[in-house]
Amino acid sequence: MSKLFCLKKNSNNASTSTSSTSTIPSSLVSDLDKLNFTEERLKRYVDETNTLSSDTTLVSNTQKELKNKAKILREKAISKTLNNIKRSMEVDLCFVLDCTGSMQPHIAAAKDCILQVLNYVKHVNPSIKPRVGFCGYRDHYNGLNRLQIFDFNDQYDQFTQYMQNVLPIGNDDLPEDVLGGLNAAITQMNWKSDTRVLLHIGDYPPHGRRFTSLEDDKYPDGDPNGLTAENVLENMQSKNILYFFGKITSETDKMLEIFRDIIGEFPVFDLVGGDPIKLLEKFIKAASTSITYAVSLTSTIGSGNSSKEIYSFQRKKQKLVMNPNEPDWSTLPFQIGVTMWYHIPKSLDGLKNPKYFNKSNLTSKSFYFKIASQPFSAGVEKYAYFGRDIKSIPTKDAVIKEYLHDGKGNPLEKYLEAVEISTVAYFLSREFNFIARKKNLPKVNFLDVRLLRSGTIDLHTRYYTIEPRLKDAEYKRFNTNTGVITELRPTLEAFVHFTYEYTKEYLVVCDLQGIELNNEFLLTDPAIHCIDPLRFGRTNFGKNGIKQLFLGNHRCNDVCKELKLSKLSHINN
Ligand SMILES: [Zn+2]
Repeated sequence: MSKLFCLKKNSNNASTSTSSTSTIPSSLVSDLDKLNFTEERLKRYVDETNTLSSDTTLVSNTQKELKNKAKILREKAISKTLNNIKRSMEVDLCFVLDCTGSMQPHIAAAKDCILQVLNYVKHVNPSIKPRVGFCGYRDHYNGLNRLQIFDFNDQYDQFTQYMQNVLPIGNDDLPEDVLGGLNAAITQMNWKSDTRVLLHIGDYPPHGRRFTSLEDDKYPDGDPNGLTAENVLENMQSKNILYFFGKITSETDKMLEIFRDIIGEFPVFDLVGGDPIKLLEKFIKAASTSITYAVSLTSTIGSGNSSKEIYSFQRKKQKLVMNPNEPDWSTLPFQIGVTMWYHIPKSLDGLKNPKYFNKSNLTSKSFYFKIASQPFSAGVEKYAYFGRDIKSIPTKDAVIKEYLHDGKGNPLEKYLEAVEISTVAYFLSREFNFIARKKNLPKVNFLDVRLLRSGTIDLHTRYYTIEPRLKDAEYKRFNTNTGVITELRPTLEAFVHFTYEYTKEYLVVCDLQGIELNNEFLLTDPAIHCIDPLRFGRTNFGKNGIKQLFLGNHRCNDVCKELKLSKLSHINN
């Protein structure tokens, strides 16, 4: 990562003069002069937690009073969030399985996978507490054998035992009673955990011309009991059940399209049969991914909030005008802006001192760029746009991010906080890599994130963050700031542990996401839990967050041992 080293060099060189202001517009100098970091930040923290408290008075506080108030409010909000996270670790996992003639290998895999799935989940995410249930469906022709239900239970051997009695039974046409099966799972089972997962597996679509052009359909007008995809799936949504599908044949493609129109995007796993051992592996992967994905979703956005929150988040993405395609750069206007970043602290003391991240340690530089007119994606907090640095040769592709809500305060302060988080993560990754290199471990690197201020197009100053664009690799989320490991990578979990030990229990860097290269992880958008609740924004869950989400979940692995990280006393919440 020559770019990161380059940044470091710059920062050292620049550390004597405060900033390279020669090309900096006077309006920015004035913005910076006006900015009272501490006060702006405290006000924003109070503002952001106000939704959770009726105490909204914010008049003429002294800075000390403001600090106390912000601290109390943040701690209150954190404690509420941590309770919600804890509840979201309780999971109902329901297999809704087509049990007709052709499904024999899949019935066997569902039975055989469950103990391994639960062992895996317990090993990787010990906080997750799953209950398992089953709803098998066949067709109207099968009469009393149309449905087979095993209600949720945490006695997993009983599940396996029950599955011995589930046998494939044929019937008189190709489509199956899919809607009846889904409806039974949704309405006849005792869903009660905060996180609800319905993993549907089948090779043929529901009845009706809407779902299939197969000739061999005894009910071409649709379900004889009057069920429709709309009423079944809307009921599922209102019960806050998350839908996942295991695909076996392309016969279900039309059904998936219709389902997506109703509930938005959902994950689809490849469960094509063949080799039974490979099929079992696919089942284990699909079921454990469904659990961790659902928990990461409910714990980060949905928990404790209104039941529609999770689905509305998935839908919001669709309703906003997003354009996933790279723009035609030649038609976009050229803009002049300024980028700003912090000098990397020289020591741990600098990193731990909130006052270090102040105007005097900022560097800025003028910047020539283009930005797409529509975002290509939206996360929980930010929109992301394609951007391009046009003065560099060759031009460099970038991602420009903007907060969904700027809040009432000065956005400059909020964007600088994002740069501060990235600077802290960068500092710690550099220290980690220094030790890891000797042990031949993969490197952990963070993208160089800077603040970008624009203002030449509409005269209205806008703030963003800007970072290099990651390319040619699948973007993955490895863990979340709620303590869920979504893709286990021992090096990354050891890095999280390292940040805790290196900072002497002051913070942990988590929410690791980005791409995985040959011998390197390239990450972006981390979160930091820190014992100081007045740093690192809303995703910092403080001292108790470190305890519950990191210490409560982390299992030291071989990389931790190789790095000689100290053993953590296990806390079971
Ligand atoms: Zn460890």
